[in-house]
Amino acid sequence: TIEIGWKLDNSYVNNLPELFFTKVNPTPVSSPKMVILNYPLIRYLGLNVQTLQSNEGVAIFAGNKIPEGAMPLAQAYAGHQFGHFTMLGDGRAVLIGEQITPLGERYDIQLKGSGRTPYSRGGDGRAALGPMLREYIISEAMHNFGIPTTRSLAVVTTGESIARETRLPGAILARVASSHLRVGTFQYAAKWGTVEDIRILSDYTIKRHFSYIEDDENPYLSLLKEVIKRQAALIAKWQLIGFIHGVMNTDNMTISGETIDYGPCAFMDTYDPATVFSSIDIHGRYAYGNQPNIAAWNLARFAETLLPLLDENQERGVKLAQDAISDFGKLYHRNWLTGMRAKLGIFNEESEDGSLVEDLLNIMQKYRADYTNTFVALTFEKLEDSSLFSTDEFLKWHRRWKDRLSRQQESNNSSQQLMKNSNPSIIPRNHRVEEALEAAVKQGDYSVLERLLDALSNPYDYSIKQADYSTPPEPSDRPYRTFCG
Ligand code: AMP
Ligand code: MG
Ligand code: MG
Repeated sequence: TIEIGWKLDNSYVNNLPELFFTKVNPTPVSSPKMVILNYPLIRYLGLNVQTLQSNEGVAIFAGNKIPEGAMPLAQAYAGHQFGHFTMLGDGRAVLIGEQITPLGERYDIQLKGSGRTPYSRGGDGRAALGPMLREYIISEAMHNFGIPTTRSLAVVTTGESIARETRLPGAILARVASSHLRVGTFQYAAKWGTVEDIRILSDYTIKRHFSYIEDDENPYLSLLKEVIKRQAALIAKWQLIGFIHGVMNTDNMTISGETIDYGPCAFMDTYDPATVFSSIDIHGRYAYGNQPNIAAWNLARFAETLLPLLDENQERGVKLAQDAISDFGKLYHRNWLTGMRAKLGIFNEESEDGSLVEDLLNIMQKYRADYTNTFVALTFEKLEDSSLFSTDEFLKWHRRWKDRLSRQQESNNSSQQLMKNSNPSIIPRNHRVEEALEAAVKQGDYSVLERLLDALSNPYDYSIKQADYSTPPEPSDRPYRTFCG
């Protein structure tokens, strides 16, 4: 890889009206210390490993030093939080700039937990170490699963404590994203900007993420369709892996199709569509099984912001938007079924495949089977360690599945290979993540976390390293609860 060091551009400031941001520097901290650095990501971005390992790197990721070429700012956005529309914005994050990689790609470098901004409302602008490490672990795991996501470049502790229910060590996460444009950015423009502002934002977005639609007849309709397409692909991947985001507010849905905002998210152990981990999601709005519906709802909010651009005739615009939104369900389902076929080693398509999958899921739900481990067991035909596998329902299903596999040309071997590549041997299980965080935050011992990260770096490997993490939590560890951090 080529090291170019910082090569920052600032297209967001340079292309968008001031309405969309406030220039603000991170607030310096007293005694920062590096606790994790993501070496492969540093290299990918073309940054200099040696510099970032040194005091210079600590100072930059702490917000104490502004790298050359940076124009730090907080972004303005709005959003529906649990269905209620609010003005938001970066209340505890600062965009440092956009790093241009050796491959010519553009990535936002953002510091999260870097101090107050004009959008902080009552908040202190800070973040606690536990939640920042948690975001690091889970976002990097998502990346290793092959799921589009923001990434984590570094975590520094600030040397300052912050006030939550108790006093907690403060930290800053350096987050990397192909952009931080959100559905909420468009909602903000639609609510407080002019039609011209929405157009400028849309043109900027198209140029940055969807340059291949620039010359389409109706690029704004194409923009809507592309975002719908990417979200349909993303949410299908979440469902296939058992990821529960936990706070799918419209400000936490990206335009790029990357997963963002690892607050109360968690992975499902026992298969149950009603699974909710977030302590504040009392009504289960963001339950596992509800994620596709919520995505469609959020995308409808996105479509509304584009209405003035879709057609000069309002009724026609509404019709175009509605048709695009109603495609989400089909696109999502197609992605999901393709992924499920792969999880079951199926290459070709048959009309009964959907019900084959649904029936398995229903049996898993009925017998409270572990989602991840069931697919691993099917992959290796290791059908002894769960009581599920001795039930009549499962045995009947198993025969149907074997018959189904016999109706394709591919060998059992290729079928198993497909399953291995589609069913992770390891997920960041909640009790193992907690164990790693506890050692790091309470004892300053990062070895548990590093071992976990190492095992998660190859989630489709089936070696001892991953097997060590396959045990579901003891029933007494439940129910697991997550917080917004
Ligand atoms: P989230 O629930 O993480 O999507 O955050 C919702 C909003 O609250 C965003 O605008 C955040 O910037 C803001 N926010 C969260 N925590 C803090 C904090 N400690 N100080 C200031 N703003 C915050
Ligand atoms: Mg957020
Ligand atoms: Mg958050």
